[in-house]
Amino acid sequence: MTTPAIFFDRDGTLNEELGYVGQPERLHVFPFAAEAVRLVNTSGWKAVLITNQAGVARGYFGEEDVRAVHDALQQHLQRHGARLDGIYYCPHHPQGRVAEYSKVCECRKPGVAMVQQAAADLGIALQRSWVLGDRLHDIEMGHRAGSRGALVLTGYGEEQQQQLYREQMIETRELSAGERQAGGKGGQQVGEACAGRRRPELIASDALAAVQQILELPEVQS
Ligand SMILES: [Mg+2]
Ligand SMILES: [Zn+2]
Repeated sequence: MTTPAIFFDRDGTLNEELGYVGQPERLHVFPFAAEAVRLVNTSGWKAVLITNQAGVARGYFGEEDVRAVHDALQQHLQRHGARLDGIYYCPHHPQGRVAEYSKVCECRKPGVAMVQQAAADLGIALQRSWVLGDRLHDIEMGHRAGSRGALVLTGYGEEQQQQLYREQMIETRELSAGERQAGGKGGQQVGEACAGRRRPELIASDALAAVQQILELPEVQS
């Protein structure tokens, strides 16, 4: 038996986007975050945190600091009757300053190693799961893993929504150019390579609204 999951991004999705959050004091959890996670808990789905923490590779803070922030987040959620079933972070960056973390890795979003690890650890059905985040790389990771993606408009979300519209305009232009030149096929391929993987199935004002809408989908209800 596998269950679906909601994979939550952290910064800009469950807590305020303040640049690099390396101390619990800088963790400002959104007021709606606990309810969003609690709804996932009570639905029987898994709630999993998936976060890039390149501040480790950049030498801004250590993995122990990342864990301290996650302990504080989990404690906040537990005080409000919610819990994350799993927490996964990527400490790497291709151009970091700390040698052991400075590399191209499989886990950094939009890489899928973190969701695949979570799926193996927790028995998650990726095809029925959703990724929720404020960046298009969150959505792209979800699609690469075979899940769906919801963009939230907190954090970088509004900016990323504008970026998405720009990509769609480029795609539309290339599609029509391709249609003129190659009867549609060429342009479509260019468009899919460019924007298709980053296009969310859902855009919601915040994580709670996204969770509510996902759990109300007819296929989930049935
Ligand atoms: Mg984010
Ligand atoms: Zn990594």
